[in-house]
Amino acid sequence: MRSLSKGMQVEGRAAGFCFVRANYDDQIVLTTYGRSSGFCVDPIEKKPLNHFLPGTSVLSFGTAGCNLACKFCQNWDMSKSREMDTLMDQASPEMIARTAKGLGCRSVAFTYNDPVIFMEYAIDIAKECRKLGIKTVAVTAGYICDEPRKEFFQYMDAANVDLKAFTEEFYWKVTGANLQPVLETLEYIKQETDVWLETTTLLIPGKNDSDEELSKMIHWVVKNLGLDVPMHFTAFHPDWKMNDVPATPQSTLVRAREIALHNGVRYAYTGNTHDRKGESTYCHHCHELLIGRDWYQLFTWNLSEDGHCLNCGERCAGVFEGQPGTWGARRLSVQLSNCIQN
Ligand code: SF4
Ligand SMILES: [Zn+2]
Repeated sequence: MRSLSKGMQVEGRAAGFCFVRANYDDQIVLTTYGRSSGFCVDPIEKKPLNHFLPGTSVLSFGTAGCNLACKFCQNWDMSKSREMDTLMDQASPEMIARTAKGLGCRSVAFTYNDPVIFMEYAIDIAKECRKLGIKTVAVTAGYICDEPRKEFFQYMDAANVDLKAFTEEFYWKVTGANLQPVLETLEYIKQETDVWLETTTLLIPGKNDSDEELSKMIHWVVKNLGLDVPMHFTAFHPDWKMNDVPATPQSTLVRAREIALHNGVRYAYTGNTHDRKGESTYCHHCHELLIGRDWYQLFTWNLSEDGHCLNCGERCAGVFEGQPGTWGARRLSVQLSNCIQN
């Protein structure tokens, strides 16, 4: 555990860099347990996860604070929140699981800020979800030590891990973190667990989008994670402390996807942009369109119930259960108190 900073205070107590762990009577306490920044039902593709129960809906929420300090953070009102008042909804683990079930969601996602900083809460929610057959999804930067990493991921069913760049310099200067623990998390998830894994790289013009850096990253992924881990390359929009950098042109996303496919990655996607080709899933063997997507809306489904290509029979990597979900591209804000069902 990182030492608590005397300069930060939460409710009058010394707090850590994430701001949400504080010293209460010499115990380090998670001050956001049971409090959330609000709930939304999203398509699972928005996390982004394209090979995990496609087309289904996911109940998404975050808390406050973060263990990184990304200058481009698009959720900085939550991740950098110093006001516990931003945590509107009080929600017990059991309430969250029951709400997900009541709303027909196949999973609950810990997202918006990094769940590793509220892992006790996330784990308790995951336990309640399992009792009801609801899966859990971690959307994370993967910046976590060995021991809590093992504890955390044993309760997750799927993860989208940010691989924010492929240099220590970027990680340190732009996110305040280090690359190496993130690589270790990716290797751990892929090699030691059954958690379904996809990666996301937000491409920032001039910062992490060179052919050379992308090639090094993709070679590392192929060598250490294999060919079946889907990679998402998503568009940056100026935000937070990075307002002086232009938005990512679509051509950069298309280029990154092509480098990945050219180097053997079987499933590579563009994101935060309208690109039907880049959003859709193709058979790596016969190149048939397997799952057509248009802004999170599925328009083609050419997979058997257990995820094999209907054209050539090759398996598509992922977690598939029969027919796709029918949630579509909708986004629905929910207040937990209004939608608990028995
Ligand atoms: S890890 Fe995510 S939530 Fe945390 S500061 Fe970075 S972009 Fe924001
Ligand atoms: Zn095929």
